[in-house]
Amino acid sequence: MARANAAYYATHDPFADFTTAPEISQVFGELLGLWAAVTWQGMGEPDPVILAEAGPGRGTLMADALRAAGMVPPFRAALRLHLIETSPSLRAVQAERLPDATWHDEMSGLPPGSLLLLGNEFLDALPIRQFERMSDGWAERHVRDGRFVPVPCAPPPGAADEALEGEIVEWGEAAQALVATLAARVVAQGGAALFLDYGPEHSAPGHSLQALRGGRPADPLADAGDADLTAHVDFAALARVARQAGAAVHGPVPQGAFLSRLGLFPRSQALARNQPARQAAALIDAAQRLATPERMGRLFKALAICDPRLPTPPGFAE
Ligand code: SAH
Repeated sequence: MARANAAYYATHDPFADFTTAPEISQVFGELLGLWAAVTWQGMGEPDPVILAEAGPGRGTLMADALRAAGMVPPFRAALRLHLIETSPSLRAVQAERLPDATWHDEMSGLPPGSLLLLGNEFLDALPIRQFERMSDGWAERHVRDGRFVPVPCAPPPGAADEALEGEIVEWGEAAQALVATLAARVVAQGGAALFLDYGPEHSAPGHSLQALRGGRPADPLADAGDADLTAHVDFAALARVARQAGAAVHGPVPQGAFLSRLGLFPRSQALARNQPARQAAALIDAAQRLATPERMGRLFKALAICDPRLPTPPGFAE
């Protein structure tokens, strides 16, 4: 799955296949930019500070975030922009909007120092492992010649105890490894990371690997590299590995509550006031799409992984 997805992002415009929060409303990136500025103040205003984004897509979130960060001039002046992106074609799109950035293939390429990291719909693109509960034990689902092949194995980690025969348990090994490294880093060097993504609050058995091709659900194994592959993020597992590394974990909280606490609606209404009626209605609808529980407000969640010496970051206090 890792290779198929890298090939997909390198050769396709993923935004033809799905729409993400920063593409829905400029307010999303603006609020995350202000989140970063306030968190930076809580860190004691380190100068310089690395502002990084994992999987920046078209660069929209970061362009909106930087515009908002301009409201806190010392933060805007202190930040050094770093982007973690594997796709050469998306890097080119990002470079048009964020010419001052430095690019890396992996988080390990970031320079040392105080870090603020943002990632929207990044973790769901990382590869997962799947295990199936058989009548007589467990099998890992391997992919061979475009088909799933069950390979007998020991009981998997995760929600294995709750799985009934025939059920799938997923294990987001890559996301967990990334979060463990990140957590150790913010504890040792200072910093905070904010991830927004979709997934349940509690780990549970279930099949969530999903492929989208041309905007429609597709067979995840057909045309590897031609479809976008995603899986639910197991927030509880990520919170566990981050705590084990000594970091403070905030959330997950539903995206609707998180964005509302940061001021999604007043900001959207303020923008709407200067717009013709149609654009004004679109701005309010976009805010509702991000925050309404039945739309993106509940399935999407925010999770922060912080240096334990920092105050609770914005959006996570009840
Ligand atoms: N954050 C953007 C894009 C989400 S799509 C938005 O909200 O619109 C996922 C992004 O992660 C793309 O930019 C994709 O190229 C990048 N990506 C996927 N797998 C990656 C990996 N293993 N390392 C770095 N970037 C990756």
